[in-house]
Amino acid sequence: MNILVIGSGGREHALCWALLKSPLCQQLYCAPGNGGIEAIAQCVTLDALDHDAVADFCFAKKIGLVVIGPEAPLVAGLVDHLSALGIKAFGPSAKAARLEGSKGFTKDLCAKYQIPTARYGRFQKAADAKAYAVKQALPLVIKADGLAAGKGVIIAESRHEAETAIDDILGGQFGEAGADLVIEEFMHGEEASFFALVDGNTALPLAGAQDHKRVGDGDTGPNTGGMGAYSPASVLDADMQDRVMADIIRPTLAAMKAEGCPYKGVLYAGLMITEEGPKLIEYNARFGDPECQVLMMRLASDIVPALMACIDGGVADMALQWREEAVLTVVMATKGYPGTYEKGSVIKGLDAASQMPDVEIFHAGTQRSRNGEIVAIGGRVLNITASGKTVAEAKERAYAAIDQIQWPQGFCRSDIGWRALK
Ligand code: ATP
Repeated sequence: MNILVIGSGGREHALCWALLKSPLCQQLYCAPGNGGIEAIAQCVTLDALDHDAVADFCFAKKIGLVVIGPEAPLVAGLVDHLSALGIKAFGPSAKAARLEGSKGFTKDLCAKYQIPTARYGRFQKAADAKAYAVKQALPLVIKADGLAAGKGVIIAESRHEAETAIDDILGGQFGEAGADLVIEEFMHGEEASFFALVDGNTALPLAGAQDHKRVGDGDTGPNTGGMGAYSPASVLDADMQDRVMADIIRPTLAAMKAEGCPYKGVLYAGLMITEEGPKLIEYNARFGDPECQVLMMRLASDIVPALMACIDGGVADMALQWREEAVLTVVMATKGYPGTYEKGSVIKGLDAASQMPDVEIFHAGTQRSRNGEIVAIGGRVLNITASGKTVAEAKERAYAAIDQIQWPQGFCRSDIGWRALK
């Protein structure tokens, strides 16, 4: 079948890489793709928010499966539009994508169906939010309700910070995403991500991973889209995964069905493993980036039947094989990220790095110039991904590959995987 992937990041490069290994995949397209994806798929210019244009392309190219990487097209209803026209699209409907698109929706769902998560309040008026906040213990977590590219969450250590965050969010700093806010109790524990494939009724556990959100070594500095990840995550061992499935994932599927919006696609649970057990921090309605890169490299089975089973049903009957190895990815970003950075620097040494054993390089913000050079055009630019018998070995291989790359305008963290190695 012909397959179309929507997106342009390292996640989409890894998805294309995995899809291409399937004997079921004939022609692979990616819209818009990037400088790395264009080496393995045909990149096309399509606006994912122009649903008619995407559908026209699917009919013209006889696309049998559309895989949507990022959240915005899901929340905007691309899957609803395509499925109504009979085009198979992997991902949740707009109503089901509210699990990511509205933090208030998810918190209310957890409360109604007893899914373990932080205690919370939901507000539209600053005075009400402040009256609630003043009665809670510090620190407090204040969140804009809607999508804010990871920037709409403030951990307030003082009453003053809490009040400023409330005023900023409800005052319009995050636009429509901040018309509503959620105030949460701060949960203590170790954070991990867990992924499951879902067909509306049942779920197939994929694997756990841990990422590194802060820009600097030792988890310091501002938050980013993610500076590295590894899988498996020791905090999510087999018993803990069973508990997450039983206490969080399956009750969520049942709840979504009961609410009239069954969830299909990949469900990404951001978890806090607390002393009382796993608790939900948030849901995402798509694969994580960079977690997807490590999951795709760990997966030994053909991914296409599993994605199709999410659309057609029967996903829980799939038996996916995983490689025994650990996989770790290090993100290389342009200096200045997550703040302002320059575009257009040339990256050299990628061939030598990617030829190292057990290494894959997934591109994010890159473009191939007319003379064939790889140029950085984004904040997060490369994902240097390696496998090994242990996280330590995977880490060693990833950083050895990075040593081959000549890119003075780039940087990466030097301690990805530290939690697994401590
Ligand atoms: P993401 O970029 O992960 O999608 P987001 O903006 O959707 O972020 P959350 O994942 O809800 O927001 O929160 C971001 C981070 O803030 C979490 O990864 C976690 O470290 C921290 N956090 C959020 N809620 C809590 C909580 N209740 N207790 C402790 N830490 C929290």
